Amino acid sequence: YLYALIGYSRRYGGIAFVAVSGYTITNLLIGWLAIGNPHPEQFFVMVVLALAVMALSYTISDSWREAEQRARFLAETDSLTALVNRRTFFERLEDSAQAPLSILMLDLDHFKQLNDEFGHIKGDEFLKAAARAIQLSIPASAIAGRFGGEEFIVGLPGVNAHQAAVIGESIRRAVAATTPTTVSVGCTAVRPLETIDQAIRRADELLYVAKRQGRDRVAGDTIERFAA
Ligand code: GH3
Ligand code: MG
Ligand code: MG
Repeated sequence: YLYALIGYSRRYGGIAFVAVSGYTITNLLIGWLAIGNPHPEQFFVMVVLALAVMALSYTISDSWREAEQRARFLAETDSLTALVNRRTFFERLEDSAQAPLSILMLDLDHFKQLNDEFGHIKGDEFLKAAARAIQLSIPASAIAGRFGGEEFIVGLPGVNAHQAAVIGESIRRAVAATTPTTVSVGCTAVRPLETIDQAIRRADELLYVAKRQGRDRVAGDTIERFAA
């Protein structure tokens, strides 16, 4: 019971913690009534201990949970762009994967030149602005991550290849309109009997097609029979 109270305090705060603690201690009481009353003094000590642990956990649970939340945020988030990092992107994508599922691979164009011209500090700002443009151009169910330096990846659950190309195009326009750089996009959907990794590899190949075709464009394979 005491261990449970400490455990709950890591999960619930404030009135919710008081409620689960109250429920736990009520359980203790009911259990005691059910088995009769072999050692009332032991039971009394138990309840006093439970209340003490509850009060103690209550006072430290907020800082516990805040520290945990902060640690999780730092582990999951790319500090520059505030998008999720690569590992978390894959975790979230696995969790929310549903057919159809589309993937966009994005890479900023001639970013090295931009760094050379404006310096890395400004370059970082452009990178942030591009990430914001991406985030603002995708549906709420989409997951956008920073894949590497100036490369991003977007997972689009419930979106077919054709719709994904439209979203890719709105990202392209938003980046061009709000940053001094442009973006190339590779766009595809996971096909039947194919793993997500295979689709990501194809999106990456399509990204290089977009680069070769002159950048600032979306290259996709929106062949309807492949769209799941
Ligand atoms: P391309 O159109 O072919 O993609 O040209 P590019 O110059 O963007 O391609 P490349 O991948 O060779 O260069 C990427 C550059 O992005 C190199 C690096 O200086 C820059 N970069 C990567 N990460 C960061 C970052 O966190 N901040 C800044 N400022 N620049 C970065
Ligand atoms: Mg680039
Ligand atoms: Mg690159």
